[in-house]
This record gives sequence, structure tokens and C-alpha cells, in this order.
Amino acid sequence: MLGYIRKRLVRSVLSKEDFEEVYRLLDVPPLESDCGELCGRKCCQEYEPGVGMYLLPGEESMFTGREPWLRWSYKLARHHDFPGSWKGLVAFVMCRGTCPREKRPIQCRTFPLMPYLSPEGELAVRLDTLAGSLICPLVTGPDRHPLRSEFVENVLKAWRILTRDPLIRDDVFQQSRKLDEDENSPWRGLFT
Ligand code: SF4
Ligand code: SF4
Repeated sequence: MLGYIRKRLVRSVLSKEDFEEVYRLLDVPPLESDCGELCGRKCCQEYEPGVGMYLLPGEESMFTGREPWLRWSYKLARHHDFPGSWKGLVAFVMCRGTCPREKRPIQCRTFPLMPYLSPEGELAVRLDTLAGSLICPLVTGPDRHPLRSEFVENVLKAWRILTRDPLIRDDVFQQSRKLDEDENSPWRGLFT
């Protein structure tokens, strides 16, 4: 069954070795101290213990699909907010609010930064105000909690590898336009 589902997943041109390198780069914490102590680990327990997230195409190669700390489901890309170039299923995992840290997915490793592609296609990293404005003190108070430069540099290096995949690049481009819209919204800042 798992083999059948995996054949229908959105494919990546990246190899397992690429993902291993990305995981290695993203093993640097955002602050010198444990940022979870600032907020009670909100990004792992937003409303209740456990958070759901999509894996990137190809990231499933870092998992067996039988991890006891994850619940798996698979969503059709066209029914969700993914670029039109994504055809097939996308893995969605739900943790229980704790994990073996060395196994956590890319979304948990990158946050509170997100990749940003300018309209001209230049890659940078930005604070993830789309996901973090309501929960993360590192996003709402960047002056009080400056991020480690090694973290920022490594997140950028990791996304340079990941955006070699055209489908991941399409998704980053789409999310970046949402960030542009959010930054230009007249409502911005009213609820934070
Ligand atoms: S919400 Fe922000 S400060 Fe809190 S644990 Fe997550 S990344 Fe760290
Ligand atoms: S997988 Fe780990 S780091 Fe990611 S949200 Fe769950 S507990 Fe937090």
C-alpha cells in the first residue's frame, strides 16, 4: 500500500543525499538559547499538542512512513494550495507535539524563516510572518531576539539546494507572492 502511494507522490529531482545535506545544514538552532522557553514551544503546540505539515516533494525519502511519532495522510495537490505544476499526492504529517529532534521535517527546521524568491527570481530568506505573526516571539520581536547568523546563512544554503527542484521553486515563488501581498496589506499589524 505504502509503495503504491509513494509512486503517486509529486516527484522531486533532488536525491536523498540532497535532503541529507539540507537536514544537516538545518540542524542549527535559531538562537544561542532555547527559543522554546520564550513561548512554551508554540510552533509545536499551536492549539493542542501536535502540528500538521506538508513534506516537500522528495522529503519522504528521509522517513520510513512508520514513525510512531507521526501520523501520515496524503493529499491531492490540486485540491490544496500548491502550484499547478504539482501533479499527484503530497505527504501530510501530523506530530504529537514531541519528536526525535534529529528527525524533524524541513518546515520545523526552517521556521521562523521562510524562503523568498523575488519577482526576478533572486533567492533570500525572510521572517515567516505568514505563519509566525500570531505565535512566534522571534517573528514579532526580531529586535529583541536576533537570529544567529549561522542559522540564517544555513537556511539560505539549504533553500539554494531545495530550489534546484523546479516544483519546489514554483511553490516558493507562490508563497513569496503571498508574503508580498501580506506585507502590502492595509490590515497588516492590526492584529499582532
Ligand atoms: S514559536 Fe518561535 S520562539 Fe517559539 S519555539 Fe517556535 S520558533 Fe522558537
Ligand atoms: S515535528 Fe517536532 S519540531 Fe516539528 S512541530 Fe512536531 S514536535 Fe515540533
